[in-house]
Amino acid sequence: MVKVTVLGATGSIGASAIDLLRRAPGRHRVAALTARRDAPRLAALARELGASLAVVAEPNSYRELKDALAGSGIEAAAGREGLIAAANAPADVVVAAITGVAGLEPTLAALAPGRRIALANKECLVSAGRLFMAKAAAQGATVLPVDSEHNAVFQALAAGPRETVERVTLTASGGPFRTFTPDRLKYVTAQEALRHPTWTMGAKITIDSATLMNKGLELIEAHHLFGIGSDRLDVLVHPQSIVHALVAFRDGAVVAGLSVPDMRVPIAFCLAWPDRIGWEAPRLDLAALGALSFEPPDLIRFPSLALARAALEAGGGAPTVLNAANEVAVEAFLAGRIGFLGIPALVEAVLARAVSESLAEPATVKEALAVDHIARSFASDLLPEFAAKAS
Ligand code: NAD
Ligand code: MG
Repeated sequence: MVKVTVLGATGSIGASAIDLLRRAPGRHRVAALTARRDAPRLAALARELGASLAVVAEPNSYRELKDALAGSGIEAAAGREGLIAAANAPADVVVAAITGVAGLEPTLAALAPGRRIALANKECLVSAGRLFMAKAAAQGATVLPVDSEHNAVFQALAAGPRETVERVTLTASGGPFRTFTPDRLKYVTAQEALRHPTWTMGAKITIDSATLMNKGLELIEAHHLFGIGSDRLDVLVHPQSIVHALVAFRDGAVVAGLSVPDMRVPIAFCLAWPDRIGWEAPRLDLAALGALSFEPPDLIRFPSLALARAALEAGGGAPTVLNAANEVAVEAFLAGRIGFLGIPALVEAVLARAVSESLAEPATVKEALAVDHIARSFASDLLPEFAAKAS
């Protein structure tokens, strides 16, 4: 029996992971499950799956969780300490699927000797990638990427020695606005941006996919996961989301990872690694698809991708700042406070202001959260400027 904890169990990745757990009840046992505040849903999942611990991040939801679990024997907890306790609960695999830098501390806490971390929370690598990977190595934890592109890279890298890898290419769907003119982009709404053409995901990553910031965050994620520099990392737009990534070797061979766009495929890989489980995965039918297409990304219409690459190349605190500014900008866009083009504009302005602070690359989680905090306060200060431009 493989013991599994899911941090962010009520989200989109959480639901995909739980769907897989349900399909193989004899194979897995559930240790801890967490959510931000949806106590009724979390309690129902914990009861159904026989979890030993359920945790809500919002202390205000604790009472409701405790009541919903009454008589079940399942322990309830809340807040930061509760999330850390969930991360520390004995488990073989921890699915790290909290959104944003909010997942950093619990995901770091989950790094323990012999543990497998099925890592979906890319923001923790963007914000604190070096220290995260260093702690994983020091602890002897295995980090397996859930992100479909990185999961494909991980699998393709097995095809040859690391020093023979020439380039790594991540594909991007291009999002719902791939073909929009710059003028149209100015007026797109949150509702339109939330309609992703190929993937069904949480709101934050869906907006990131529309701006292409998601692919920028993924460049930084790939850099930390695989130790590959920006000069050897490419992005290719591929609207069908069938080819997730390509690894080119020095002999000219290119090994690609393909699957239908369904996050259960990479999650199943992480849950079973180094084995592979059989499940009723939707099968890839290339003949039915007929054609796959590819094009270069347009950095003029989608400047977020260029901003992220610049932050990766600048190093220091820049990726941490980029991530925090983007989280604030996406929230502001979803709340109708800034327009779609206000997202990269705000991120760029925050990065420019942060340059004068010459923030160092965080060496501890405390430093990462401090840089994150500074960037968020810059973003809040600058936000009204961009709100004015959006109206
Ligand atoms: P989601 O919004 O659907 O779910 C997020 C989960 O985290 C929920 O359980 C929520 O309750 C919890 N959460 C949110 N804020 C929290 C907070 N402040 N403290 C504690 N818990 C909190 O998001 P998602 O689409 O499942 O994405 C989760 C992560 O996986 C993100 O980092 C995303 O970039 C990454 N990811 C998602 C997909 C996808 O297909 N959805 C693909 C690749 C990577
Ligand atoms: Mg991805």
